[in-house]
Amino acid sequence: MIKIPFVDLYAQYTGIKSDIDKAIENVISNTSFIGGGDVKAFEEEFKKYIGVNHCIACANGTDSIEILLKAYGISQGDEVIVPAISWISTSEAVSSVGAKPVFVDIHPDYYTINTDKIEEKITSKTKAIIPVHLYGHPCDMDEVMRIAEKNHLIVIEDCAQAHGAKWDGKTVGGIGHAGSFSFYPGKNLGAYGDAGAMVTNDESVARVCRQIANHGQEGKHNHLIEGRNSRLDGLQAAILRTKLPYLKQWTDQRQAVAKDYSERMKHHDIQLPAIHSKAEHVFHLFVIRTDKRAELMKYLSGKNIDVAIHYPTALPFLPCYQSFGHKQEDFPVAHAYQAQILSLPIYAEVTAEQAAYLAESLTEFKKQNA
Ligand SMILES: *Cc1c(COP(=O)(O)O)cnc(C)c1O
Repeated sequence: MIKIPFVDLYAQYTGIKSDIDKAIENVISNTSFIGGGDVKAFEEEFKKYIGVNHCIACANGTDSIEILLKAYGISQGDEVIVPAISWISTSEAVSSVGAKPVFVDIHPDYYTINTDKIEEKITSKTKAIIPVHLYGHPCDMDEVMRIAEKNHLIVIEDCAQAHGAKWDGKTVGGIGHAGSFSFYPGKNLGAYGDAGAMVTNDESVARVCRQIANHGQEGKHNHLIEGRNSRLDGLQAAILRTKLPYLKQWTDQRQAVAKDYSERMKHHDIQLPAIHSKAEHVFHLFVIRTDKRAELMKYLSGKNIDVAIHYPTALPFLPCYQSFGHKQEDFPVAHAYQAQILSLPIYAEVTAEQAAYLAESLTEFKKQNA
């Protein structure tokens, strides 16, 4: 019987096993467990890939947002604009530096921040915008940058779901003042544990980020500020370096799977992902919308097809933000969509047989529910 897991990280490993195993052995024999040559080399290779002047590796993609906010001096009393739908790291990082996350509803077609709704949320306390390239679809960075320039705001792109995505031909992470990346195992470029990175063209910001991530040091025992421990392991860097040359190919494969899904599913009564004409979508997730989500999830589970919801509750409605007193009508799109969105399995190694099986299962479901 055909099975479709939500992601298949082992399938990816088997394709590059000997390279990965060699890279891991190399780190162990050099005992370069923290920092070291692979970390330095990965920073160099990743900054070239994004097309920026500086890359600072760190422990994870939540730290990278938080360290960037700190490096830009954002703190208590400041406000930071974030989208109403994202993984919690985006808003959590804002609160962690003492600032307040100010949510903006999402675009009804692309799920990213609705740039028409940003300016009404800007106050004298607003210091930054964190556009999230959600599901792998870039935000409208023309509008984000226009609004930021007009209002003197810093733009930190949250690229955790969008390695290599492009807006108007420009790679995300290098469009705003800085970009934040996560290499959590399931991301498009994933380590074998936690990992993250910050990218920017601003040399002084890069320098402060590097200090903060390594106990405020510049040179051993020269603690210029109090920082934290947010270092990248040598093992994770070696794994990421081994994988980076394959990212383009894996992204092409994800895009081909997404195209194949969209072709096979276009006559189903589900809302397929839309792609803006200026966007190159890297399909970290393939998110559909349906009014029969609970029934469809149950049906697909019976067919051994794994699905997920990203995310079941929009950020403003999470218990941790209850004190903000947000109402459903403040974020009508995010509120309506949280009950409809469903992420279908997608990864580079999805076979044509699996794609056909998924589409057939959706057809059967449609017939049964007509
Ligand atoms: C995964 C993710 C993060 C955080 O990454 P971690 O490495 O897990 O800390 C931040 N933002 C978004 C949108 C993410 O999907």
